[in-house]
Amino acid sequence: MMKVLGVDIGGTKIRFGIVDEKGKVYVDERVETTFPLYELLEHHVMRLIESYPEIEAIGIGTAGFVDAKNGKIIYMSETLPGWTGTEVKKQLEKATNLRVEVENDANCAALAEAKFGSGRGYERMVCLTLGTGLGGGIIIDDEILSGGPNGGTGEIGHMILYPNGQKCSCGRNGCYEQYVSGTAIQRRIKEAGLELSPFELFPKASEDPQAAKVVKEFTFDLAVIISTLQAALDMDAVIIGGGVSESASYWMDDLMNQVKPLLLNDLDIELASFGNEAGILGAALLVLPE
Ligand SMILES: [Zn+2]
Repeated sequence: MMKVLGVDIGGTKIRFGIVDEKGKVYVDERVETTFPLYELLEHHVMRLIESYPEIEAIGIGTAGFVDAKNGKIIYMSETLPGWTGTEVKKQLEKATNLRVEVENDANCAALAEAKFGSGRGYERMVCLTLGTGLGGGIIIDDEILSGGPNGGTGEIGHMILYPNGQKCSCGRNGCYEQYVSGTAIQRRIKEAGLELSPFELFPKASEDPQAAKVVKEFTFDLAVIISTLQAALDMDAVIIGGGVSESASYWMDDLMNQVKPLLLNDLDIELASFGNEAGILGAALLVLPE
């Protein structure tokens, strides 16, 4: 069975997984993200392919805007300094003599759900990762909808929900990310005068009206987002993952009630099957056979 290396590059750590065609993870290693980043990546990739010569190809998922066709980082914020402009595919293929593919990490997570997780059986799905930010991945006919001259296709987190709303890291105001990510929920909690973590907020909503209000505003905004995406993409399913989804048992009913009147057609809403390992699985899928 074919085995490949899946790499998930984030702001604090890089995760390496050796994965087979069935999605089985054989080796799973984490290293701290340090800089210069490309040198760190190449060092660990070379070390792993020396130890595991069965690795046949390398898939890489990374934060930032990616030109997936050329495997190049078009833009990444200062979370990963120096990463913008890096020709990851070209350099790493030269170093390893193996095939290398690069994609945005949210797209990789969506691919993992589509092939091995909750998205199985759906031809058209949108994966929303509610974590530090809001990652979006769109799968149409089992393929990631990606690319564009700026690598920006499917950047759902930066669609605008409230014009002139909350300041966003992209320099504009009112993006989706500022209303339904874990960070956004933290802000909402603070603004409501509560001293709770997002994990404490959701169970509290049944007894505390202030907490209930925060949850209601969050589920309403998420419902509007899902409804808008349906009008644009007519997907069969939405898969919700990321840290915020771990509390879904407290807010899913609320979301379903709020989204129902906003939908054009029936839509399945499911929770993601994978946590953080979606990154290495999806990255591996970039280079695994269909
Ligand atoms: Zn934005």
